[in-house]
Amino acid sequence: SFPPDAVPQAPEDPLFGLARAYKADDSPNKVDLGIGAYRDDNGKPWVLPVVRKADEVIRNDPEANHEYLPIAGLAALTSKAAELLLGTGSPALSEKRVSSVQTISGTGAVHLGALFLAKFYKVNGANRTLYLSNPTWANHNQIFSNVGIPTAQYPYFDKKTKGLDFEGMKSTLANAPDRSIVLLHACAHNPTGVDPTPEQWREIAAILKEKNHFPFFDTAYQGFASGDLDRDAGAIRYFVEQGFELVIAQSFAKNFGLYGERAGCFHYVAAPASDAANTTTRVASQLAILQRSEISNPPIYGAKIASIVLNDPALFAEWQENLRTMSGRIISMREALRSKLEELGTPGQWNHITDQIGMFSFTGLSEKQVQKLREDFHIYMTKNGRISMAGLNTRNVEYFAKAVDSVVR
Ligand code: PMP
Repeated sequence: SFPPDAVPQAPEDPLFGLARAYKADDSPNKVDLGIGAYRDDNGKPWVLPVVRKADEVIRNDPEANHEYLPIAGLAALTSKAAELLLGTGSPALSEKRVSSVQTISGTGAVHLGALFLAKFYKVNGANRTLYLSNPTWANHNQIFSNVGIPTAQYPYFDKKTKGLDFEGMKSTLANAPDRSIVLLHACAHNPTGVDPTPEQWREIAAILKEKNHFPFFDTAYQGFASGDLDRDAGAIRYFVEQGFELVIAQSFAKNFGLYGERAGCFHYVAAPASDAANTTTRVASQLAILQRSEISNPPIYGAKIASIVLNDPALFAEWQENLRTMSGRIISMREALRSKLEELGTPGQWNHITDQIGMFSFTGLSEKQVQKLREDFHIYMTKNGRISMAGLNTRNVEYFAKAVDSVVR
């Protein structure tokens, strides 16, 4: 049996704790700006119309069943998922330098990548340190440390400008030991909403090249950030064009609204070389072994939905329209919030609200102010001052702006 105290009480996951507190609050004014899930203008979850259509395709298919998928998942999904990231004409695809595995959404993809690197990416028998942005998605830390990969941080968010600390980021990456692993958010950085510009991405790539660092891209918001799938894949495509060997964790939770269905993929891309296709085959064989021991095979429903949409030109076009609806509503909420704060003359600069992109905004509110918003106004957000923009709508944005105004003064 376990010795006494061998299993200490762990703290509740802060984000899911926040969701519980919100649920228990019976104020009619309550506002949920915690978890990163899209809400429509009525504050309700939104099943994408294109997802409803794909669901109907499944329901009308007399051959549909509940059999196991192969270990690597649904091939009709993984091949299109790779194209979506790399672009249809990508030489990496035609040269067979890409190995793709369907995973338990983005979290499972990050985990599979972590496990793969923990096992195989070693120098003189030791794991390399993985650099995470400060701050980053909270789960990154525990996923990598759980598999024994040491983590370190690179500066990312500049508290003064509420934008990118580009100099800090560059100098830390330039001074990190050669062949470190660097985790990069492909677009719509969580939690800050701050992304490098295309020119800054080029400089980041040059440093990683120079230092022989290994890029690990996490992409959870393609198409959801700008409304344009190609634009949101720009950083990844640039790195692939530059000839990096890299890995990508891809989530379909936000851009398909398939959160609980756990649809995602992990991709390995080999650098261009005469034996690159062989390297990729070897990687695929090891990924299959890891996948088998972890989950045997991935879930089928979300994979079918995404693959039906990705493989049908008419549904694909409709998906892009749905993506523009979601990103457009979020961008309009950014504009509304900023202009309300400026109208109220709320102390401080608020341009970062519209400069930042994607699901989240790092408001710059202090932990104390966050607490006051919760106690006095029933507004729920993480204590680092992050708000999920999707929680704002035409009915509550003014209430939120006035509440912020009151706690900032
Ligand atoms: N990475 C980042 C940066 C994220 O924001 C998220 C979603 N919160 C994920 C990965 C993965 O989420 P999921 O497992 O739901 O796809």
